[in-house]
Amino acid sequence: MGRGERRTALGPDPEKGALTVVREGPCDAAREGPCDAAQEGPCDAARDQARAGLYVHVPFCAARCSYCDFSTGTLSVAKLGRYLDALEREIARRAPPAAGLRFTSVFFGGGTPSAIGAAAFERIARVLAAAFDIAPGAEFTLEANPESVRPALLEAWSAAGVNRLSLGAQSFVPEELATLARIHAAGRPAAALALARAHGFRRLSLDLMFGFPGQTAASWDRTLEAALALAPEHFSAYCLIPEAGTPLGDAVLAGATALPAPEAQAEAYEVLTARLEAAGYGCYETSNFCRPGAEARHNLVYWLRRPYLGLGPSAHGFDGATRYGNHRALQRWAAALEAGAPPEAEVERASEESAAAEAMMLGLRLATGLRPADHPPALRAALERRYGAALAAAVAGGRLVTDGASFRIPRPLRFVADDVIAWIAAAAARARVDSRRACSVPSMPCPSPPSPAA
Ligand code: SF4
Repeated sequence: MGRGERRTALGPDPEKGALTVVREGPCDAAREGPCDAAQEGPCDAARDQARAGLYVHVPFCAARCSYCDFSTGTLSVAKLGRYLDALEREIARRAPPAAGLRFTSVFFGGGTPSAIGAAAFERIARVLAAAFDIAPGAEFTLEANPESVRPALLEAWSAAGVNRLSLGAQSFVPEELATLARIHAAGRPAAALALARAHGFRRLSLDLMFGFPGQTAASWDRTLEAALALAPEHFSAYCLIPEAGTPLGDAVLAGATALPAPEAQAEAYEVLTARLEAAGYGCYETSNFCRPGAEARHNLVYWLRRPYLGLGPSAHGFDGATRYGNHRALQRWAAALEAGAPPEAEVERASEESAAAEAMMLGLRLATGLRPADHPPALRAALERRYGAALAAAVAGGRLVTDGASFRIPRPLRFVADDVIAWIAAAAARARVDSRRACSVPSMPCPSPPSPAA
């Protein structure tokens, strides 16, 4: 084992049931300093630090990428002014009920948060700091597109407490950037990262994309080579999912262009994992890799099903019991707030069933797997009741591995994590139907009623 590598000693605990952690060894890369080798995470320190997240959606981009169906549009002075005013209204609505929450992470996502100027960003950051309890030293991430990273913005972000930048590179091959309709040049991420480092940013992440039309094994290799040369602390890498209504998605769905074969996409993921691992980046979630201790705390909040508060069009929130999703379109979201109405398009109170389904689905995306001990006792019990048999069947069939305290998808199946999760959900649903049938059908033949003459 390398220094800091995690080992968990586990076994059944007859007192508490099969889904209970018995004993757990330390990882705590963040506390112990850098580890020697890539390790799969998330480690305990990162889990502990991911308590509650605050998300701000900035719905503007300089241009729309060919694959993107996010809530975003072009920027204008009038739209930005309306957005900022409405955001302040939403903050005023959401801050009082969130008074008991101390936020351990803040995330400006989009859209392109770096598309708005320093003054607009400072205004939002000031209002957030006044309205919410943000923990000292909280992780503060801002998503930026490489072409918009400039010294004046970096200074404003740094002064407001931003300590992590997530840069959308996607590819380092010019022809692929054209396919994806990305507006930055292939060399721009390197310049943006260097500028960010020169301004004191020490936690940098790069977004990459694979499995899209025209990408080959050789071009993916070229992108990985260029990305690794920049040595960011964190990578996110997603396989393209063609979305209807986007230019690239529609072209794929209409047969005008084709995705690489599924085997080639799986191979690209395998190459990604192997190359990153060899360079010291461990996988901690299906699509996320980092140096030891550099896990994105904010995203862990989502995967560990902890509370988060979302602001802005299309933003979502969860207080531990109820979820909400805001109107997607800027106009609709802003109009609701201007009229003094709630900006939500949907609100759903979690049931035992939905909570257990979420915990199972989110937990299995983590490289360390679903750890029932991460959840409160009632949810642990619901997981056992609803998924215990299906998880055991998945282990028996080789879809999962377990050490008695956690269930995880083995590495060769990680690329098809969604299929494994769907199999478990279907197996659990079948088991519920079977048990209902068993309850409604008498297990013994019904005897003939006794004759009144007997
Ligand atoms: S920069 Fe990001 S949010 Fe904006 S269009 Fe491209 S993918 Fe979508």
